[in-house]
Amino acid sequence: MQFSDFGLDKRLLSTVEHLGFQTPTDIQHQAIPVAMTGQDLIASSKTGSGKTLAFILPAMQRLIKNRALTKRDPRVVILTPTRELAKQVFLQLRLFTTGTQFKPVLILGGENFNDQVKTLEKDPHFIVATPGRLADHLKQGHFYLHGLELLILDEADRMLDLGFAKELSLINKAADHRKRQTLLFSATLDHAQVNDFALQLLTKPKRIAIGAAH
Ligand code: ADP
Ligand code: MG
Repeated sequence: MQFSDFGLDKRLLSTVEHLGFQTPTDIQHQAIPVAMTGQDLIASSKTGSGKTLAFILPAMQRLIKNRALTKRDPRVVILTPTRELAKQVFLQLRLFTTGTQFKPVLILGGENFNDQVKTLEKDPHFIVATPGRLADHLKQGHFYLHGLELLILDEADRMLDLGFAKELSLINKAADHRKRQTLLFSATLDHAQVNDFALQLLTKPKRIAIGAAH
């Protein structure tokens, strides 16, 4: 299995090649085709197994494919538990958006609120954020999620451990379920809370667990 077997846009493949990645990791191999069908997905695999690319590639592919649709709302929201993780995801995402029409923004807790309001007013296509701050902007009407196509929850287990359930529910409710795809990634799924939560946010999700005991 090669990256070129997924049917991804050639610009995405060329970025993957520049990164020096030869073959997809197990989680990429299994998650990318499912995510590309538009189904909801719950995926778990250990830290360091390449989960970031497993959601960035299908997200980029989806936007490239639906290019004709121009909406003011962000089209993809990626939530991560910590500022550090959000920055890492943002940097990887930017490798793929540079040179395209797609604008990604990073919205983190602890940064200047008004600067973020201005950033959100510029109609970004992607928002990478920590849940608390994004929920604050949403409550104050600085952006809307009516046009959201894809919600990605990275490290969902840690987001719940950090007490972000309320913020995640708020963000979830603001985005129309019928039009939206949701991808949930986690290091583990033995966490009952993650499963209960997934039931609220996802519709008939496909499950992929790499390295889990059966
Ligand atoms: P996770 O989110 O599962 O903890 P990351 O997405 O952060 O893992 O990836 C871990 C490391 O593996 C990163 O340095 C990333 O660049 C690298 N990586 C990702 N995919 C591949 C691949 N297909 N081949 C080689 N290295 C990869
Ligand atoms: Mg990760």
